[in-house]
Amino acid sequence: MRTLKFTAAAALVAAMGLAGPAAAQNLVFEGGRVIVGDGSAPIENGTVVVENGKITQVGPAASVKAPAGATRVDAKGKTIMPTLINTHEHLSQTKEGIDTDFKRRAYFGVSASMSLGIDNTEPPYQYRAAQSAASSRYFTAGRGITRHEPGRGGEAYWINTAEEGIKAVGEQAAKKVDILKIWVDDRDEKYEKLTPALYGPIIDAAHKAKLRVTAHIFDLADAKGLLRANLDAFAHGVRDADVDDEFMGLLKQKPNFVLNPNMGARGAVADASWLKAALPAAEYAKVEAGNVANEGAAKGHAIQARNLKKMSDAGAVIVMGTDGNTPYAPHFEMEDMVLAGMSPMKVLVSATGDAAKWLRIPDSGTLAVGKTADILVLDGNPLEDIKNTRRINAVYLKGVAVDRKAYP
Ligand SMILES: [Zn+2]
Repeated sequence: MRTLKFTAAAALVAAMGLAGPAAAQNLVFEGGRVIVGDGSAPIENGTVVVENGKITQVGPAASVKAPAGATRVDAKGKTIMPTLINTHEHLSQTKEGIDTDFKRRAYFGVSASMSLGIDNTEPPYQYRAAQSAASSRYFTAGRGITRHEPGRGGEAYWINTAEEGIKAVGEQAAKKVDILKIWVDDRDEKYEKLTPALYGPIIDAAHKAKLRVTAHIFDLADAKGLLRANLDAFAHGVRDADVDDEFMGLLKQKPNFVLNPNMGARGAVADASWLKAALPAAEYAKVEAGNVANEGAAKGHAIQARNLKKMSDAGAVIVMGTDGNTPYAPHFEMEDMVLAGMSPMKVLVSATGDAAKWLRIPDSGTLAVGKTADILVLDGNPLEDIKNTRRINAVYLKGVAVDRKAYP
């Protein structure tokens, strides 16, 4: 019945000579390496069938029967994997700005973003509700909670008492934010930071409101306090010291704990040449101007890399997130995560299947029957070299090919 209705509507649009929204074609991706996104072994010479924007078959070529009339996509020598999901960003606050943000994300193969804690306008909520066809999906932590941080943006709640914190949680729960963000950081001793007496009641109030809580942290001591206070996730790794046995003991008691490592600058010159063709010249020049070695940053990055490896090995759920508003950042972050010692497969899962679970996107994140066809086609194998995620051949969002030539 649904098919009949769809066909009738399409016929009507065609008869009237109207340009309807780009309809999802039925597609068969053939002959490629399929990375499912759940950590299972890749399927060599795999086939993925997409019908009406949904994945209807996945498997070795011999096990899949292509539907008649579907458009065949030759993926020989290519990799087919889920699009990327960025669990920590700060997006624009106007409708126009978000439109641009998401077009650029689509170009770089990113299909969903969590804006983490400084959304103080309405467009993020409108965009989240709309989730239009050929673009990324928006998730928001609304306004997060911190102490008074004069000189920094005032988009977050600045609180001094547990009561103020609990009131803020109530307001954000009423906005139906996707997660609650808190900051526990004195910013190099410039400000007071949230104490256990403040973040404890905030976390409890959030959990009562069915909200999970993620924390911006810096110091190991705060990370321990937050684990004791039943926090759900870190929005950065521990940055001041190597995690110790006491920390690992606390982590062990929380088997589903989530780490978004969000490691920031590596402090070493990176290969950014792949961006040259993708960015306006002035923007690319800026990237290269900032692409310099920095000993201090390298030292801090190394601490985070060691801590990421330890937490990942201990079984923490790792989800990819980059901070900032840089559409291509996931491709650098994933390289950094591999350099930290995670396997390319684990890193890909952190940016696809596990990121989707964390953002509660049940219909995306893996290439499995019934999932939405959010598909990335790569010209190389990211399991051999994670930098091959940058060699994007095509991006499909909800089964519709992104017109990458029209961006940015
Ligand atoms: Zn952030």
